[in-house]
Amino acid sequence: MGNDLDFSTRVKLNNGVEMPVLGLGTWEMHGKNAQKSILYALEIGYRLIDTAAIYRNEKDVGKAIRKSGIPRDEIFITTKRWNADHGYKSAIAACERSLRRLGTSYIDLYLIHWPVEGLRNRTWEAMEALLNKGRCRAIGVSNYMVRHLKEVLDFSSTIPAVNQVEFSPYLYQKGLLDFCQAHGVQLEAYSPLTRAAKLDDPGLISIAEKYSKSTAQILIRWVLQKNIVTIPKSSKEEHTRDNTGVFDFVISPEDSQAMDSLDENLRTWWDPSEVE
Ligand code: NAP
Repeated sequence: MGNDLDFSTRVKLNNGVEMPVLGLGTWEMHGKNAQKSILYALEIGYRLIDTAAIYRNEKDVGKAIRKSGIPRDEIFITTKRWNADHGYKSAIAACERSLRRLGTSYIDLYLIHWPVEGLRNRTWEAMEALLNKGRCRAIGVSNYMVRHLKEVLDFSSTIPAVNQVEFSPYLYQKGLLDFCQAHGVQLEAYSPLTRAAKLDDPGLISIAEKYSKSTAQILIRWVLQKNIVTIPKSSKEEHTRDNTGVFDFVISPEDSQAMDSLDENLRTWWDPSEVE
């Protein structure tokens, strides 16, 4: 990816599929409001939409995409199977349900939402079958720590295309990032804005002021410069637009390093580090 980025930049996943570097997260977006926010994002250039079966908004994502009039193959849809849908047969059936709700014949990136103990490898076999059948263009995982990734790499010849995890300067998982990059797994940052918890942090504000940028823009740019794909969520038009203003500046190596040291192991969601 490097520092030479724009809104149309895509990364090549390990199976050759191309994925936009910046997308829209959709957690807690529902119904007409969700459709309106997603449609707005598509209108201003977003081409990656992140949803999940558990968000209960796949139908809204599908409707907004159709309403946009943008050809399906120009939009990259990520969805995720929920924890109740592990095991081979359940996994296949869950994918078909997501496809129906989205109203599409394929998912661009299908993820295992959580590394459920004892079931995840059988589920991975189902993911491989779905990939081979063309129901998904790429398959990956979410909330996998290094040991979960090592298990898949030992067990399967299909390397996950993506690992979607919580990632920000306040949760700088450098070991996980290095492992993913060494093994051809694209890291994708969720909650890159710390769910707004740190947007007023004085350390971050001083860096943002230096670049005349918002703290949200600084956080997004920091992950992009580490070759990480990201999906900030916003339901407000001004925020959705603000989050795209990340392609006209470069954070210096010194400031990027200063941001690395903001790490405080801050998890705003669940913690997979205890999952065996
Ligand atoms: P996030 O993107 O870090 O933060 C979202 C929050 O920041 C919202 O409250 C939003 O408010 C606010 N915000 C957005 N842009 C802003 C801006 N420019 N200025 C000020 N505030 C701003 O958190 P997230 O939703 O947890 O993570 C992003 C996406 O990752 C999710 O939506 C979901 O798609 C995905 N995710 C995946 C997992 C997983 O387990 N795989 C877990 C969590 C999240 P407004 O809506 O009011 O703009």
